[in-house]
Amino acid sequence: MDDKKIVIALAGNPNSGKTTLFNSLTGATAYVGNWPGVTVEKRQGTYRNKKTGETCEVVDLPGIYSLSPYTPEEVISRDFILEEKPDVVINVIDATNLERNLYMTTQILEMDVPVILALNMTDVLEKEGQSIDADELSASLGCPVVSVSALHRRNLDILITAALRAGRTSRRGYTVLENGKYKEIIAKARDIYEHRGVENPLYHAIKALENDEVELARRPEDVKEVRALLNNKEKEDFEADTADERYKYITGNYVKSRHGQKVSAAEKLTPSDKVDRIMTNRFLAIPIFLIALFLMFHLTFAEDFLYLGKMGVPFSTCFEGNPYFEGLFWTENGINSIGVIIANLVNGITGWIWGSIENGLTSIGTPDWAVGLLGSVINDGFFAVIGFLPQILCLFFFFSLLEDSGYMARVAFVFDRIFRRAGLSGRAFIPMLMGYGCGVPAMVNTRTLNTDKERTQTIRVIAFFCCGAKVAAVAAVAGVLAAKVGWNAELIGLSMYLVGIILAVAMVILMHWTTQREKVPPFIMELPAYHKPQWKALGIHMWDKTKDFVKKASTVIILAAVLIWVFSNFTPTWQYIPSLVDEFGEPLADYEGSILKNICQMISPVFFPLGFGNNLSGAGWSLTLASSLGLVAKELVADAFITIAGGADAVESMVLGTGITTGGLLAFLIFNLTTVPCFAAVATAKAELPKGQLKWTILFWLGTSYVVSLMVRLVFDYVWTLAIIIPAIVAIFVCAYLWYRHACKKEELAKLAREAN
Ligand code: GDP
Ligand code: MG
Repeated sequence: MDDKKIVIALAGNPNSGKTTLFNSLTGATAYVGNWPGVTVEKRQGTYRNKKTGETCEVVDLPGIYSLSPYTPEEVISRDFILEEKPDVVINVIDATNLERNLYMTTQILEMDVPVILALNMTDVLEKEGQSIDADELSASLGCPVVSVSALHRRNLDILITAALRAGRTSRRGYTVLENGKYKEIIAKARDIYEHRGVENPLYHAIKALENDEVELARRPEDVKEVRALLNNKEKEDFEADTADERYKYITGNYVKSRHGQKVSAAEKLTPSDKVDRIMTNRFLAIPIFLIALFLMFHLTFAEDFLYLGKMGVPFSTCFEGNPYFEGLFWTENGINSIGVIIANLVNGITGWIWGSIENGLTSIGTPDWAVGLLGSVINDGFFAVIGFLPQILCLFFFFSLLEDSGYMARVAFVFDRIFRRAGLSGRAFIPMLMGYGCGVPAMVNTRTLNTDKERTQTIRVIAFFCCGAKVAAVAAVAGVLAAKVGWNAELIGLSMYLVGIILAVAMVILMHWTTQREKVPPFIMELPAYHKPQWKALGIHMWDKTKDFVKKASTVIILAAVLIWVFSNFTPTWQYIPSLVDEFGEPLADYEGSILKNICQMISPVFFPLGFGNNLSGAGWSLTLASSLGLVAKELVADAFITIAGGADAVESMVLGTGITTGGLLAFLIFNLTTVPCFAAVATAKAELPKGQLKWTILFWLGTSYVVSLMVRLVFDYVWTLAIIIPAIVAIFVCAYLWYRHACKKEELAKLAREAN
C-alpha cells in the first residue's frame, strides 16, 4: 500500500443518512438531526477496518439535491468533489425516495470520478414491503451499488471494501442525456472541453450548456463557445429539458430494480402522513407545539406533578410513617417531577460534600475568611451552578427527542407558513430552533441561508432564544417569583421560551420591512419521515453537554466566584466585610462600601426604568452585577446571585429583601434572556455576520432587550400603561409596513423607468 491516505467522500440528498453513516464509520459523534440542512460544512474522520486494520479518510459533505450552484451547500459539495478529488465518492441514497435521490446521481456520474452507491435506509424500505435489487440497479447505472443501513450498521464493511476497490480504477463519466434530444450537442461540447485539457470535460461541458453561474465566472470564453452550439430557443430550454430527460430516464431505467408493492400504496397515506395531518394542521399545529413545550417544562420543573396536590391528594398524610424520602420524591404540595428529583439528588450530594469540607476546615482552625472564600467558590460557585445541570439536561433531552424524531422539522414547517405571509423564507427557522440548545452552533448553521440579509436577521434573533445556560437564570428567578406571586416554575420557563419565539418573529418581520428589505427566494421545506430516536447518539450528546458544562463551571464560573467574593468582601482600602447573611439565612449586612457594590451603584441607574436599578434597596445592586456578568456567560446570572447571597437557599430572601416588584423581576429575567448573548456567541456572530454588521447587531440586541423589558416592567407594575404600549406597538408595525410598501413601489417605478429607456 502507498502511504497516501485514500479519501472517500459521502455525498447525497439532505436527510439521506450521510452523517449517520459518517458517525458509524468513523466513530465520530457529529450532529445528526432529522431535518434538512444540519451539516453545513464538510467534516473529516478516519475509518479503521477492525479485521484488517486498514484505514482511510471519510469526508461528510452537506446534503444537496443537485450540483447546481444555488445554495452554499451545493457549492461546498461540488467543489470538494471537483477540486479536492477524493479517490471515490459514496453517493448515499435514501432508498425510500429512489427517484428524487437518483437525480443527483445522474449528475455525479458525469464526472470522471469513481462512484459507488450506498442504498441507505433499506430497513425502512423493507418495513414498507419493498426491496431494491442492488445488482440490477448496479447493472443499469454502471457503478457498484451496496444495500446498507447506516443506523443499524448493516453491510458497512462491504460498502467500504467495494468503495476502496472502485477507488483503485479510474472511471470515465457518462451521461444519461446521451440518449436524448441534445446528444450531438453534448458530444461536441464535451470534445471542445476535452481538447482544451479541462478535467471532467463531460461534466463541465453540460454545466456550460446550462449557463451555470460558477462555470460562467470561471471559464467565460469556453462557455460562450459551447453555448453557441445551441439555438436561441434551446438556450432557454436546455436546463429544463435536460432535467426532464433525467427524470424520465430514472423512471424508465432505474426504478425497475425496485420490487414489491408499497404496503401503504400511493393512495393510502403512510403513518407519517397521517400523523402529519394532525401535527401540521392549520389550527392544531400551534396548540400541539405549546402542549409539547408545556409537558417538557412540567416534567423538568414541576413540584406538583400532574397537579395531583392541587387536585386535593393529601400528600402530608399519604406518606405518613414513611418520611425518609420526603423532600426528594414528594412534599406536602405534591409529587416531584423527574427533573426536580434529579436536581434534589445532586444538590443533596453536593451539599453533603461541602458540609463535610466545612466541618473539616473549622475543626482544624481555618480562619473565617478562608472558609468564606472556599465556601463562596466551591459551594456558591461550582456546586450551585452544577445544581442547575439536571434540569438543563432534562430540557435538552426532551428537546433532542423532539428534534431527532422529526417533530421539530414540522414546527419549522408550521412557522414557515407564518413567515411566508410576511414575505420571508421559513428556512431561517431551523437555526433559530437550534438556538434553544446553544446559540453558537445555531449561528454557524445560518450558513445554509441564501442571502446576507437573511443570515443577519437570523443571527440577530437567535440571541432571543432561551439556551441551556439561560435556563439556570430562569430556574433561579422562578424560585423568587414563585415565593412572591405563586407562579409555577414550569409556567415561567414555558413563557420564557415563548417570549423568545414571539420576539424573534416580530423582530424578523420588522427588520424585513425596514433595514433588511429584500426579495426572498422561495424555500421548499421537506418533511423527513418520523424516526425512532437514536438513543445512543442522544446519550453521547447529553454526555458531551455535561462535560462542556462542568468544564465551564470549573473555569469561568469558579474564576467569577472568586472575583465576586473578593470584590464584594473588601472595601476599596482592602478592609474585610463579613457575609450578607448569618447562619440562619437572615439578612445581615449588605456589603456596604465594598468595591463591587460601589461599581454596581454607578451602573445601576441605567436599570432604574426597568425596575431593577437604583430603585432597589439592600442587595439590589446584585441584580446590576448579574446583568453585567451575563454578558460573559449566562450561567453567571444565577451564579452572581448565589455568591452574593451566600448560598442558593438565601437567594429568595435576598432578592425579595430588595423590595423588587413583580414587573421588575420579570423585566430582569427578560432583559437577561434577550440582550447581548454570551462572549462565545458574540465571537461567533462576529465571524458569521457580513462585514460591519457586528456593531449594529450589538446595538440591536441592547435596544430590543431594553425596550421589551421596559414594556414588561411597565405593564406588570402599572397596568394602565397598556393603553399606551399597545397602540405604540401597533403604530410601529403599521409605520414599518407603510415604509416597506413605499420603498417597494419606488423600486418598481425605478425598474419600469430603466426598462423604458
Ligand atoms: P444527512 O442529512 O444525510 O446527514 O442525514 P442524517 O445522518 O442526519 O440522518 C437523517 C435521519 O435519518 C436521522 O434521523 C437518522 O437517524 C435517520 N437515518 C439515517 N440512516 C438511517 C437508516 O439506515 N435507517 C433508518 N431507519 N434511519 C436512518
Ligand atoms: Mg448531515
